[in-house]
Amino acid sequence: MDFKPLSGFSSMSISAMDKMMQWQIQNSLSLSDAKAPNSMIIAPEQPIETLYLHIPFCHTLCRYCSFHKVKFNEVLARDYFKALRQEISSVINLGFRFNRVYVGGGTTTILEDELIATIELILSKTRIREVSCESDPIYFHEGQPQRLTGLVDRMSIGVQSFEDRILKATGRYEKFGSGQEQYEYIHKAVSLFPTVNMDMMYGFTGQTPDSIAIDLEKAMSLQPEQITTYPLTPGIGKNRKKCASISGMESELWGQFVTARSCLTTAYDMEFPWTYSQRKQRPVEHKYVLDGEDCFGVGSGAFGRFGNRFLISSFDIQDYIDSRKAAPARSGIQFEKQISDQALMQHHLMIMMGHGIVRHKEFELHTGQSLWRALPLEMSFLLATGAIKSHSDGYQVTEMGQFVALKMFSGFLSGMDYLREQARELVQLQAC
Ligand code: SF4
Repeated sequence: MDFKPLSGFSSMSISAMDKMMQWQIQNSLSLSDAKAPNSMIIAPEQPIETLYLHIPFCHTLCRYCSFHKVKFNEVLARDYFKALRQEISSVINLGFRFNRVYVGGGTTTILEDELIATIELILSKTRIREVSCESDPIYFHEGQPQRLTGLVDRMSIGVQSFEDRILKATGRYEKFGSGQEQYEYIHKAVSLFPTVNMDMMYGFTGQTPDSIAIDLEKAMSLQPEQITTYPLTPGIGKNRKKCASISGMESELWGQFVTARSCLTTAYDMEFPWTYSQRKQRPVEHKYVLDGEDCFGVGSGAFGRFGNRFLISSFDIQDYIDSRKAAPARSGIQFEKQISDQALMQHHLMIMMGHGIVRHKEFELHTGQSLWRALPLEMSFLLATGAIKSHSDGYQVTEMGQFVALKMFSGFLSGMDYLREQARELVQLQAC
């Protein structure tokens, strides 16, 4: 596939931005000042956008994975689900309401009956607009996904690639089957749920624009309503080393992004440089908590965000279960951390960049500050690199700007990895 390479100036600017983001993440997301919440979290009058549920169990642990999970143990997992339902009931009894539920893991479907009981409990207690659930391809072969129909509105399937070489390098071949087998399993899923999202990745070593195009064409031939695709995120903490053997060169990402976009936009609309929705579909709910929406996390290893507070639950599963028994009326939040106004404003800028237009008014409405006064360095960088250009009420994001937004999004994912890594260490420190 042909594409115009980035100029030397643009490549240098992007790598300078990467370094700057790493530095900022390490500063703004350090948990060195995290502390136990000093006040009860009061339920707001309006529903919170997302209730996030974390299921931290997997049958085998993939070596590059930074998510919070342990090896499956049925007794522990059943105790965990019980504690999770107890926390959900407490949170709803405290007056919290939510627009949607997102179930992530780990392997969310590891105990189908427990997952179903948990979703049914939520739906019996409060009105929810949408339930999203992550899953992996093998579930549609070994599990009974039809049991989730009517309960899950959006099924998000982590595929990453259909290329056997990549599946083997990442340990997914042994776990989920060959690319062709996974393709056949997912085929069964597409008709079961109102919305199916497929997660695909690029940025693996040895991938070429042509191999990415083949992968994405295969994904599109399954006709999921949504395809999410972004580069492998090596992270900034310990996970960076683990990812080194499977990551491709940073300099290859531009060509891979352009290829992914040209391939997907033949039948899908780009909603963000990392999310594509099937043309003529109603707008699809996004996977990540965006636009400054609040999110409440329940379960071990869950994060939440309320305005400028990050809320973190215990990353020790037994500790989480015990704490539910000791204080059943409270939520499971163990730590909180203040997020700086600067970090929140940079997040807004990333979302606006992702949407394709950076509007003065929208930014002011969200933050109460003018764009240039709040983020002079960031705006100067975007203009100087040609990532944005003037538009009637703000700035239009260029092709280069879409790539910058994607890199900012990767930085956001690295930040989440970094938080998880530190949260695990907080638990170990507490145990000493
Ligand atoms: S990649 Fe998925 S299956 Fe593998 S350990 Fe992580 S959460 Fe579990």
